[in-house]
Amino acid sequence: MQKEVSNMLKDKLNRNFQNLEASPMLKMFQASSKYDNLINLGVGEPDLNSPAKVIQALKEAADAGFTHYPPMNGFADLRQEVCNYWNNYHSLALKPEEVLVTSGGIQAIYLVLTAFVEPGDEVLVTDPCFPSYLGQVRYVGGKLVPIPVREEDGFTLTAHALEAHITPKSKLLILNSPANPTGAVIPREEMEKIAQVCEKHDLIVLSDEIYEAFVFEGEHVSFATLPGMRARTFTLGGFSKTYAMTGWRLGYLMGDAANLQVLNVLSTDTVMGVNAMVQKAGLVALRDCRDFVDNMVGTYKERVESVSALINTTPGMSCVKPKGSFYVMANIFGTGMSSVDFSLKMIEEARVVVMPGVSFGKNGDSFVRISCNGTPELLKEAFRRMSAAMNGKPYTD
Ligand code: PMP
Repeated sequence: MQKEVSNMLKDKLNRNFQNLEASPMLKMFQASSKYDNLINLGVGEPDLNSPAKVIQALKEAADAGFTHYPPMNGFADLRQEVCNYWNNYHSLALKPEEVLVTSGGIQAIYLVLTAFVEPGDEVLVTDPCFPSYLGQVRYVGGKLVPIPVREEDGFTLTAHALEAHITPKSKLLILNSPANPTGAVIPREEMEKIAQVCEKHDLIVLSDEIYEAFVFEGEHVSFATLPGMRARTFTLGGFSKTYAMTGWRLGYLMGDAANLQVLNVLSTDTVMGVNAMVQKAGLVALRDCRDFVDNMVGTYKERVESVSALINTTPGMSCVKPKGSFYVMANIFGTGMSSVDFSLKMIEEARVVVMPGVSFGKNGDSFVRISCNGTPELLKEAFRRMSAAMNGKPYTD
């Protein structure tokens, strides 16, 4: 009976939701659910707990009665604190009305795409990129235009490659530096050239800067600070990575105040404000937790270095050390395996979870993404097991 009903409704689905396939990520989750002794280098979040001060602030906010609907665009004091942060660390000078608090960075992406992309509009993304971009562009009926980025260029988007993919239908570019999954950090010089292309072709830019704190080499350039970019750019910021707060579901979008008012209407009708006590705790994160961020980023810098070295001594794997984020893209081309087959082999024969590069786009299929999570000993053990599996000696319990 259940089956008939679901079959019947399937035909009625909005066409943008028809034929959705199980993602390679889901395959990994299913394969790994068989084992309980896995080392998980697949997850896209820091393995640290959120700062104690932030947890305390949440409890105090609940006790103080922040249990009602918040202002729909976010508390004014939190938006002011966001302005202070971006002015201090990235020279992006904003007013509180140029900040919209969202339910995670993910909702910020949804708001921009829903409000600006019409069916057939082309949205430019790098290949590989954060997979939710791919899903969300599809749901709003946009046409994805993937721009392959190359390992030899440190996976950075170049102005040249961007220009080569522009058509009269190009509407919006999603920029992500530092990038998930590649750790690419676009240098200032290249950013300036990308800005010129955006100006020339009148592109809207969604600059996803959620990894802004995780830069190990070079600098983080906030795209909206480049000449002429402020009016055409929405900047996404977040708490999930910077403060290890993925479960809190807090993020924000920065951009022109009039546009944000439109997005706020959309956000109000779909989410109706972001959890009040979480916002109060988020303010404490931005204001009082720089030590936490500095320690965490220092730890990840070391881990990224050691993981890059371990990859380069593992049979069949190699990598270029990333300049940011907490991921390393390991090249597995030499194994002759697809990224899904390689990742399944690692679960079965090494009890290590890595993320197939194809989850992030076709161009990612010669790679797997490794999250640098765990103590130095655990990371070494993971690579010992993967080396053994590659040498024909599967892991035994
Ligand atoms: N952008 C990128 C590039 C990400 O990697 C993520 C999380 N994996 C997000 C946005 C969304 O983050 P959140 O919704 O947790 O703030």
